[in-house]
Amino acid sequence: MTGEIAKWGHAQIAQGVRNQLAQLRQEISIGASPSIDLEKIKQLVVEAVTSGHEATLIPVFNLTGIVLHSNLGRAQLCESAITAVTEVAAGASNLEFDLASGKRGDRESHIEAMICELTGAEAATAVNNNAAAVLLALNTLAMGQKVAVSRGELVEIGGSFRIPDIMSRAGCSLVEVGTTNRTHLSDYATGIDADTALLMKVHTSNYRIEGYTTTPTETELGNLATGLGIPFMIDLGSGNLLNFDAFNLPKEPTVADAIRHGADLVTFSGDKLLGGPQAGLIAGRADLIAQIKSNPLKRALRLDKMTLAALAETLKLYNHPETLPDNLPTLRLITRPKADIEQVAIALLPTVASALGPQFHVSVEETLSQIGSGSLPVETLPSSALKIAPHSGVDGDLRALSSAFRELPRPVIGRIHQGALWFDLRCLEDDHITPWVNQLAELTL
Ligand SMILES: *Cc1c(COP(=O)(O)O)cnc(C)c1O
Repeated sequence: MTGEIAKWGHAQIAQGVRNQLAQLRQEISIGASPSIDLEKIKQLVVEAVTSGHEATLIPVFNLTGIVLHSNLGRAQLCESAITAVTEVAAGASNLEFDLASGKRGDRESHIEAMICELTGAEAATAVNNNAAAVLLALNTLAMGQKVAVSRGELVEIGGSFRIPDIMSRAGCSLVEVGTTNRTHLSDYATGIDADTALLMKVHTSNYRIEGYTTTPTETELGNLATGLGIPFMIDLGSGNLLNFDAFNLPKEPTVADAIRHGADLVTFSGDKLLGGPQAGLIAGRADLIAQIKSNPLKRALRLDKMTLAALAETLKLYNHPETLPDNLPTLRLITRPKADIEQVAIALLPTVASALGPQFHVSVEETLSQIGSGSLPVETLPSSALKIAPHSGVDGDLRALSSAFRELPRPVIGRIHQGALWFDLRCLEDDHITPWVNQLAELTL
């Protein structure tokens, strides 16, 4: 046991031994006669201590077909961001230190100018995520006052982020304007009174209302707010900085569009279409950003050095838009041609079929990927998948198959659809194919 004690510490092993002995006493006390084998007890102690130390947050293969999967960590960072995170994590940095003057600096100096340049905003700040950005902006600009929002935009984003709830937690009262499907400019004008401090528009990023609908343009709302002397804020959600036309992708509004259309503030996520770390960015009018920065809540929501390093490197890539489809993983994955993905599927088919054996039918199928995280919810990207169906047609066999893939050293997460397990190969890039194939030998069906 000395080796184990050196590795796990005396206290851990001693507690493990006590637990095992307690277990044996308990079994004996109820009349059982467990075998008292010292080697076996040692093994159980080591297993129990080891399993308590296994990391629970581990890399997986995302073959769900949803590129920005909120449960699987959303955007994967670009290489330069990963390097920068490692470097600032490992030692001291000039996080809040101005190297030129030798005096205290501002942690946001590493990102603010880049955000302004990319969005056309006068000033910018950043916090932990976009939910925090919305909370902070509302609390700063409208605490104890009213905020006007269209009834068609009172969204819920993934469980706990609901506009009405965030509004009340920010200390604001919501003024609902118009109806679910139609909100006119005149509805805002009648809904807004002297107590209204903010006009807010929420990009309905994870659903779309179709049919008999109307909503004023951003420019109309911006002009209305200016006329009334209140700020106009847009919660954009996905945080796109690029003209998607140039990449043959469906149209998605950009932060620069929102600013150009008259938004005084725009809030957006760092780890959705922007392709960076989890963060919430706020860009807009300098006077409003200054108020936001001096809100005491800002300190509670601020970014840490690793996130700032990753965000700065991600934003830097945007200075070379022509390299983005190669260097920004999010864009590389959503622009990956179907023919490429299909080639991978065809190449993998025989290996997967032989690893699984005759009980399963494996085929290459066309499928549709999604960008995910509420970005372009109804648009899909043509893709290619491996479809694995148990010949038995038994639901239990399908669930066992799916769980066997989830139990691999690097779990493989697919999607169950039409009696089969589907692996959309969009996010299985070249350098991951060999490790993916190699661990198939460890499948236990
Ligand atoms: C995703 C989203 C949010 C929440 O952003 P997080 O970065 O996940 O906190 C808020 N508003 C909209 C419109 C969104 O799409």
